[in-house]
Amino acid sequence: MESLPERLKPLGLSAHGRWETLFEQAERCRPRWVTLTDPDCISKVDRGRLSRSTQLLFGPDGVFRMVTDPDVDVVVTAMVGSAGLAGTLAALEAGKTVAVANKETLVMAGPLVMDLAARRGASVLPIDSEHSAIFQAMASGRAGEVERVVLTASGGPFRGKTAAELANVTVEEALRHPTWRMGPKITIDSATLMNKALEIIEARWLFGLPPERIEVIIHPESMIHSFVEFTDGSVVAQLSPPDMRLPIQYALTYPERVSGPARRLNWKELGAWHFEQPDLGTFPAVQLGYEVARRGGTCGAVLNAANEEAVSRFLNGQIRFLDISRACQEVLAHHDYIAQPTLANLAAADRWARQEVIRWTTTRQTQTR
Ligand code: MG
Repeated sequence: MESLPERLKPLGLSAHGRWETLFEQAERCRPRWVTLTDPDCISKVDRGRLSRSTQLLFGPDGVFRMVTDPDVDVVVTAMVGSAGLAGTLAALEAGKTVAVANKETLVMAGPLVMDLAARRGASVLPIDSEHSAIFQAMASGRAGEVERVVLTASGGPFRGKTAAELANVTVEEALRHPTWRMGPKITIDSATLMNKALEIIEARWLFGLPPERIEVIIHPESMIHSFVEFTDGSVVAQLSPPDMRLPIQYALTYPERVSGPARRLNWKELGAWHFEQPDLGTFPAVQLGYEVARRGGTCGAVLNAANEEAVSRFLNGQIRFLDISRACQEVLAHHDYIAQPTLANLAAADRWARQEVIRWTTTRQTQTR
């Protein structure tokens, strides 16, 4: 936003608990509102550090007020979990263009989100780099002319390893991502390939594609962000060095392209790029992605919640690396499936799945003692 000040004006910003960072950002771009969603913040914040021109809001009401204001054109959703879902739905209900940076929204509630967008005439634009690539490549044909999409994956830090080699990897090893610098949750998701599973589900709802038309290929250099194959056999891809500023900017200026700060491909230094098939035996998460994309219903909410809980338990040293996918698989296998869930059903499935992972972790710890 700071690189396109004449074009983009941030009206509202939100954060959960990191009020100091939020206030620093507000100091730089002077939004009309900032919202803090962590209730503990109300007593902690130093309001004197916020400009008088910016109003401080709290909780879901604050988010609601920002995303539904008539002056807002585009809402970027980058919150984690169910808090992000409520804000996304409110923005779509108000007919806003929503640029989705959090996969959870579409993984948990893809059909609800896309139906609401269609009813309200609102657009959902991807920020996830692979989905932005597919969205850009799809402009080369019509929706009915798409044969398949191929999501690229870096393969994460454990590409080429066997399950036996991964049995005792440490948190530090799992956090060492080769190409993207990201937060701990998504970095672990890249190491298990759960990130790709979530992206299969995201693509299924965002583009309305059946899972058999979504493929995954490992491409360690992360230069090609995905492919679209059309009915005539032509394959169109989107390429750039890994830099999230590009898909973020494209979603904000869509359908136009404007100059921006993203890194450029250096054509004079290009070398070989590599591709390989994902090892589904070592990384079973990918199969879970297909299963959930096929079954729909409450499966997305269950997988997303089980994975979040399992990843946080791995980061705390309570379970091992391979247990993350194992826990997700077991929780998914015995959940009470609802084919056409309401928002309340999804919230209940989310809570249940977290409890189940806790129960699974405790049972295993007792067994191995
Ligand atoms: Mg991605």
